[in-house]
Amino acid sequence: MQVFKFGGASVKDANNIKNMADIVKNSAVKDLLIVVSAIGKTTNALEGLTNNYISGNDEMYENLESIKKYHFDIINELFAYNYPKVYDDINNTFVEIEWTIEDKPQDPYNFIYDQIVSIGELLSSKIVSHYFNYIGITNKWLDARSFIQTDNTYREAHVNWHKTNDLIDSQVPALLKNTIAITQGFIGNTSENFTTTLGREGSDYSAAIFANCLNADKLVVWKDVPGILNADPKRFPEAIKFDELSYASAIEMTYYGASIIHPKTIKPLQNKNIPLYVKPFLQPEDQGTIIKETDSTINTPSVIVKSNQQLLSISSKDYAFVSEKHLSHLFRAFAEANIHINMMQISALTFSVCMDQDAQKFEKLVEMIKQDFSFKYNLDLELFTIRNFTEETVAKYIDHSKSLLEQRSRNNAQFVVRK
Ligand code: ASP
Ligand code: MG
Repeated sequence: MQVFKFGGASVKDANNIKNMADIVKNSAVKDLLIVVSAIGKTTNALEGLTNNYISGNDEMYENLESIKKYHFDIINELFAYNYPKVYDDINNTFVEIEWTIEDKPQDPYNFIYDQIVSIGELLSSKIVSHYFNYIGITNKWLDARSFIQTDNTYREAHVNWHKTNDLIDSQVPALLKNTIAITQGFIGNTSENFTTTLGREGSDYSAAIFANCLNADKLVVWKDVPGILNADPKRFPEAIKFDELSYASAIEMTYYGASIIHPKTIKPLQNKNIPLYVKPFLQPEDQGTIIKETDSTINTPSVIVKSNQQLLSISSKDYAFVSEKHLSHLFRAFAEANIHINMMQISALTFSVCMDQDAQKFEKLVEMIKQDFSFKYNLDLELFTIRNFTEETVAKYIDHSKSLLEQRSRNNAQFVVRK
């Protein structure tokens, strides 16, 4: 049993969906579960629609029309207008958005967001499933919400592993016997039967959840890159591909901001020793990168850049040294504001923190600390993490005159820099 995951880029147009069908046919895997993301940049478009709906902007109707047009253009090309089932099914799916936006928004933003944005994955999975049946790749369409159970933290739902595992384990293997099933990434369901999402780019994570609960032989994530590289090739053309990475290295790289795989993806696979293959969907024969348990240590330096960073320097208003008492107060405030600290440093009078730029969370933090602390900050910075650094790589990638904060451990060097 295997799980394949196809991201937005791999289904972004009719050609890519045809390519996906070739990959599935040629793989000849029996018992295959396919997890798909929304088509192309549909999630961003649905986010835009949601924002316009919440703020009462009629532009939401144009947003909806252009999302519809995008999907129906692809359908027309795939089915040449002669497969009524897909037209009915997709029209009915769009009706769910139409009904939602007919009334004035009443529920909290995050809840509404999930009800609307989740439709992207329903649309893509239905189109792919109908298309596969249309060309003779018999398959079943599964609603991921019947299996992935979460709490009600809308937009960043936490998976209830116990319930999810029971549901998948008791039903999906039988459904997959000698056949293919197609389902959605990114979405889940609360105990009150409302749709949730698992956080942006969360489809990889969905695929890993299914793979874990199915004890799959492997998970293959099909991407528009040759595999996992030691730097972003768009920015650093000399980047090289890893043939193999350990789970631990992959977890570290995603933690520091390598955006190729969702950070939550690796652990559920590691726990069951399921290898993760990251392969290029346009060169399916290439080996890509395999992430698995391995003791081979790789010393190739990797350069990971996280953008949209804010550097905050906090000092106590009484001009005292930064004490553990201050720190415990500050850490509590960071936790309550739901801010993740990407890097930090303590000096005599200041506590410096590098974090993702998020005006709302920052405001919440300020409210909690402004009475006792004063602060300064810089915006629009980048956090460079160089794993397995050498002086040579540091010299090559870091302009020290733009660097505001630096830190080195035995293996990693980090720099907060101006663009
Ligand atoms: N469609 C969702 C997103 O764009 C989930 C994913 O692609 O993984 O964030
Ligand atoms: Mg995506």
